Amino acid sequence: MSDLFSLKGRKALVTGANTGIGQAIAVTLAGQGADVTCAGRRDCDETVAIITDLGGTARSVLLDFADPMAARDIFEGAGYDILVNNAGIIRRADSTDYTEADWDAVIDVNQKALFFTCQAFGRALIADGKPGAIVNIASLLSFQGGIRVPAYTASKHAVAGITKILANEWAPHNITVNAIAPGYISTNNTEALRADPARNKSILDRIPAGRWGDPEDIAGTAAYLCSNAAKYVTGAVLNVDGGWLAR
Ligand code: NAP
Repeated sequence: MSDLFSLKGRKALVTGANTGIGQAIAVTLAGQGADVTCAGRRDCDETVAIITDLGGTARSVLLDFADPMAARDIFEGAGYDILVNNAGIIRRADSTDYTEADWDAVIDVNQKALFFTCQAFGRALIADGKPGAIVNIASLLSFQGGIRVPAYTASKHAVAGITKILANEWAPHNITVNAIAPGYISTNNTEALRADPARNKSILDRIPAGRWGDPEDIAGTAAYLCSNAAKYVTGAVLNVDGGWLAR
């Protein structure tokens, strides 16, 4: 019973682990006993230092999803059990002005790289006959339209769809595939919203919990979805949003 939430003996890779939600997830998985590879387009030394200071095991790896196939050779024969696809970008402009360059950049990182990183992970585990867990970071904009973020909304709806199809295909291989849809979380991604007093107030007024979320609010859910406690949970897109979608 006490091992239900433990990740001892598991090897995890978290993308975008240098900051924000990815950093919190990496630290929390390590806190549950996982050996964590912290992947980023720049080094994740700060995250690795936090984990090792707490007595955990971690390393930093460079993966830049400007090349959506960047993770193609990472998993084969490397013994991973857990993949968290957290890396993501947002580009804001009115839909009438949205450029092809912004569209391609967002879709490449948030959607194409996410799928092909799942593919590389799934192939490796299925070849080894190993169970595993994938957690994809979706968004409230996997359910809602948003405003001035057309590529982001398209990509995050796609994250929900990719999560469900892979859950269907890989359930027979004991690989769970789930997503977390974070609400409004204080990170670099939402700095522009928090800096705009009117937007900040309208967002806060709608969150039943009455506050922005912290990256740690997402990390606990990710650890749960990777643990044995969630072994019959697959294909779920779980909103962690202080009640936003219930409103
Ligand atoms: P963040 O602080 O901006 O973190 C995004 C992470 O993705 C950073 O580590 C970033 O690296 C990395 N990344 C961006 N482009 C990359 C690339 N080409 N290759 C590799 N890594 C790349 O924002 P966050 O809020 O923690 O975002 C994490 C995830 O949560 C994203 O998928 C985001 O869409 C999602 N999300 C956030 C919120 C929110 O309210 N904050 C809500 C819903 C969903 P750099 O530091 O080098 O840029």
